[in-house]
Amino acid sequence: MIYDFIVIGAGIAGASAAYELAPHGSVLLIEAEAQPGYHSTGRSAALFTRNYGTPLVRKVNALSEPFFLTPPEGFTDRALLSPRGALSVAGPGKEALLNPVLAASTSRDPLHEMPVAEALERAPILRPERVARVVYEPGVTDIEVSVLLAGFLKGYKQRGGILQVRAPVRALAYKSGIWHVTAGADTYTGKTIVNAAGAWADQIGALAGAAPIGLVAKRRTAILLDGPQGMDVARMPCVDFAETDAYIKPDAGKLMVSPGDATPTEPQDAQPDELDVAILADWVMRETRIEVRRIAHSWAGLRSFIADGSPVVARDAVVPDFIWLAGQGGYGIMMAPALARVAAALGTSGPMPADFLEVGLSLADLTAGRASAQGPRFH
Ligand SMILES: Cc1cc2nc3c(=O)[nH]c(=O)nc-3n(C[C@H](O)[C@H](O)[C@H](O)COP(=O)(O)OP(=O)(O)OC[C@H]3O[C@@H](n4cnc5c(N)ncnc54)[C@H](O)[C@@H]3O)c2cc1C
Repeated sequence: MIYDFIVIGAGIAGASAAYELAPHGSVLLIEAEAQPGYHSTGRSAALFTRNYGTPLVRKVNALSEPFFLTPPEGFTDRALLSPRGALSVAGPGKEALLNPVLAASTSRDPLHEMPVAEALERAPILRPERVARVVYEPGVTDIEVSVLLAGFLKGYKQRGGILQVRAPVRALAYKSGIWHVTAGADTYTGKTIVNAAGAWADQIGALAGAAPIGLVAKRRTAILLDGPQGMDVARMPCVDFAETDAYIKPDAGKLMVSPGDATPTEPQDAQPDELDVAILADWVMRETRIEVRRIAHSWAGLRSFIADGSPVVARDAVVPDFIWLAGQGGYGIMMAPALARVAAALGTSGPMPADFLEVGLSLADLTAGRASAQGPRFH
């Protein structure tokens, strides 16, 4: 069988793109691992943070929001977003670090100063002597990532799509207008490839003979801790620490803590570095009221960026019928619903979705070679 589309990678990017493509033709979604979402998608902080990332990322996030709030009929019976809120805190003498945070406020996605006393009440893990100024972003929400991924995959299958797991793509060849994809022990054929291989997207590009887009995978570490005894942390906002890139957020009755690290690394099954974990545990004890008695779980995941920090959703300029869906950095869950619609438009040679055009985003803005007016405002 010759598929209309072969999507490589069943993280949130590939699953959402496959879901959007399935009404337009036959689709095969190929995943190297036994489980979709095994890599970055299953390791995120699961936050929808509106004032985060490059200006382009923020626009894309806003275009994803309607999907999260009102998913298509039958997609899921659970809410995809739930209120969280986020505090950015600065210690004595460091108050000015919050000026750029506050400056990002818009009427749509506001941020405001919060009295320190109120912040300490909302986030009792904070040490009062370490908090001199607080900015609050009420619009930050949790994302039900596993529900979102399952919704895309279920809808994809209902639309006739096929998922092949345990099938690492090893070779790609384009012959007489057809792609031959060698994955695991089999070779599949298809008319158009969608490269949604996350940190490995440049490797897949190389197999296809495409020039790299310059992806750099950056490792981010996280640990899961119990909250202080007798403290109900479930409703606490996320806390960002302005002096470092560290953040703490409630996660299933416990607290997820990340130093906000971004260590360049080769694409791989990322594992936390023991020293990073020890340094993080020490930081938690010093900067918060959390006592680290036991680390319930630690993990690391990859956030993959090109140089300007914005995603790439584009047909390759040279290699035919090859679509990039990569470089989602630290915002790939939030952006997935909107970017998947662009991938589907490219696959079907349709126009850029109207809501993108309305906010001034054209197909050219999502290419790796875009005029880089986006600025380096990402981490
Ligand atoms: C600690 C951390 C916190 C984060 N927090 C957030 C957050 O709060 N909000 C947010 O929106 N984003 C967040 N992110 C970013 C988000 O997780 C990623 O942007 C997103 O998951 C990327 O999705 P993806 O599908 O592109 O990549 P992946 O989920 O990595 O999927 C790519 C898939 O391609 C497969 N693949 C690779 N090579 C091959 C091959 N040769 N053959 C077949 N399959 C292949 C892989 O096995 C993998 O399953 C965070 C990331 C980390 C690490």
